[in-house]
Amino acid sequence: MLRFEHEILFTPCPERIARLRELAYNLWWTWHPEAQDLYRSIDPELWELVYHNPVDFLRDVRQRKLEAAANDPAYLKRYDAVLKSFDSYMSAKKTWFSKNYPDAKDTLIAYFSAEFGLHESLPIYSGGLGILSGDHIKEASDMGIPLVGVGFIYPQGYFRQRLDQSGWQFAEYNKLNFADVPALPALDPEGREVVVEVELPGRTIYAKVYKFQVGRNELLLMDTDIHPNSPQDRELSARLYGGDQEMRISQELVLGVGGVRALRRLGYKPTVWHMNEGHSAFLVLELCRELVAQGYSFEQAMEQVKAHCVFTTHTPVPAGNDAFPLPMIEKFFWSFWPQLNLTRDEFMSLALQEQQWGPTFAMTALALRFSAFHNGVSKLHGHVARGMWQWLYPGRSQDEVPITSITNGVHTATWLAPEMRTLYNSYLGKNWEDNLDDPQIWRKVYQIPDETFWRTRQKLKSDLIAFSRQRLQQHYMRLGIPAPVWPVLEENILTIGFARRFATYKRATLLFKDVERLKYILNRPGKPIQIIFAGKAHPKDDPGKHFIQDVYRMAMQPGLAGRIIFLEEYDIAVGRALVQGVDVWLNNPRRPYEASGTSGMKASLNGAPNCSVLDGWWPEAYNGRNGWAIGDEREYASQEEQDWNDAQSLYHLLEHEIAPRFYDNRDANGIPVEWVQICKEAIATVAPLFSTRRMLADYLREMYMPVAVQDTPTGV
Ligand SMILES: *Cc1c(COP(=O)(O)O)cnc(C)c1O
Repeated sequence: MLRFEHEILFTPCPERIARLRELAYNLWWTWHPEAQDLYRSIDPELWELVYHNPVDFLRDVRQRKLEAAANDPAYLKRYDAVLKSFDSYMSAKKTWFSKNYPDAKDTLIAYFSAEFGLHESLPIYSGGLGILSGDHIKEASDMGIPLVGVGFIYPQGYFRQRLDQSGWQFAEYNKLNFADVPALPALDPEGREVVVEVELPGRTIYAKVYKFQVGRNELLLMDTDIHPNSPQDRELSARLYGGDQEMRISQELVLGVGGVRALRRLGYKPTVWHMNEGHSAFLVLELCRELVAQGYSFEQAMEQVKAHCVFTTHTPVPAGNDAFPLPMIEKFFWSFWPQLNLTRDEFMSLALQEQQWGPTFAMTALALRFSAFHNGVSKLHGHVARGMWQWLYPGRSQDEVPITSITNGVHTATWLAPEMRTLYNSYLGKNWEDNLDDPQIWRKVYQIPDETFWRTRQKLKSDLIAFSRQRLQQHYMRLGIPAPVWPVLEENILTIGFARRFATYKRATLLFKDVERLKYILNRPGKPIQIIFAGKAHPKDDPGKHFIQDVYRMAMQPGLAGRIIFLEEYDIAVGRALVQGVDVWLNNPRRPYEASGTSGMKASLNGAPNCSVLDGWWPEAYNGRNGWAIGDEREYASQEEQDWNDAQSLYHLLEHEIAPRFYDNRDANGIPVEWVQICKEAIATVAPLFSTRRMLADYLREMYMPVAVQDTPTGV
């Protein structure tokens, strides 16, 4: 029996559909649209109002609406079908994992990440890293991989993006009420709520552990907004990537050290510890401390810990690799290093980095030193990371640096439009999802009749346009100004999507290098193009905010107005609408700073080909028939030259390749037959290989299982 802390607050629910509550507390619903429909169809308006959060929904819904559903045979049929598939999912004895690793019963992977992007109603992610963690844990559940996630719940989340009339971004923070989210306090084996303690300078901080059920796996999120923490410490986990470096190191201490303690208190026995990015790397120090306390020397402890840890680095951008000044480390760790039997200097040398701006304690260096396997997130990024961290491996050439690569993927069920799923169900064969990383299965998309395929794509585009217009309307209403008179987006126009964090290396304004040329391209008679932008800049990234403002102002200019729009508040819901509804996905970062990128994978999976710089994952996927490549795979003397060249290449592609493919060669029914082939090729080549299914199979084979089978006399 599940324990509902806030049971008293729910609208009374008829017995016949009482399991709606249980379903709400398993995030399985986040990747099963048919489960979400069980709530939506009861009260569609409320469903929007609570932003697709079923817990909130069940607290606010009118009782008579629940009763109507419980008396509606059609509803009950759907209800029974969803719960049947939920039950068979949860109780399955045979899983992908048990078939492939029948002897690995004791394996447990502890997966640490500073952010988890699971659903729009749970704003505890900022961008690609979080989305990847969310997809990782969902896929682990689908495959039956025993994995427990560890992270933070940020009561104020990341921020909500608001744009003022001039297009300047400001941040809005809403308090997340724990009674509204599908989380329960984690209970230890004796049934008590778990609060862990971590030493900070001059005080102890307490973190309460919440448990989210993600399919078959659990995700533990810590919260410091509790008694008896000081007001300042209660704010510690309030915001993702908020505050100064002191706050950041404190957060990372709670994540790494507190995370290990939370797992111990709950009785978990991980055999693999995965640091997803360096934020959680302090966990290795806590694991060493445990062993030293048992009587091992530091060297023995380090060997043991290293044998069970793996690490993924996610960005070649220096600011993405945390490094703390030594005096700060001293302040936070002076009582910790004696517990490792180390001197100050020995401790500092564990992660000392002297390459940049004086000596620092680098989290990436710490994680690399204390893990058995380490990887970048695409082949190209692996190469770049080997160069970046070569100094840690004296005497080795760049190619010999032991950082491999496992290219990212996306969780198919999360990002696939229900309409496309219906098509795949009809044409890919009955159990296509059991083997969704098998490229052979995906060749069958060629059997989908062009007309059916095209009508489905048109329907998704029309949904996106309706969604975009509504979002714009809301924006103007909030600003208190009338919506524009020009037509906002048109149904039959080639539609390009560009949505991502507005980090400057992603070059959101590249398209505007030559505004006159852009105007010409977007307004060519018979071959017009429209572009939908979305994206957030980090609250402290003013250059990024200027990029947003530039795009916003461009979207007001004669010649571009109506053809370019900017949607506020890029989140998972906006992302889903865009990747499912556009015709082409645009990605033009400054090579080689995009470690992988995943949004283009989501678009391709839905039949919207990628048009991208050959950075991140794209060089591995691009075959000349499944999308377009901007620029060359080369390095430039200056950024100006690189930007100019890439912009020229992009204009050329839009004008001479992409628009003609879309508008020309239509058959008698108006279907662009050549275009449809490109879309199908995008699906067939990207969907299997750039899935989290393929990605997790790689992690198991190359990192998790080699580490898990290690003999562990010390029981790390
Ligand atoms: C997929 C996704 C991202 C990551 O996309 P990139 O290609 O890495 O820029 C970021 N934010 C949201 C909301 C996403 O859905």
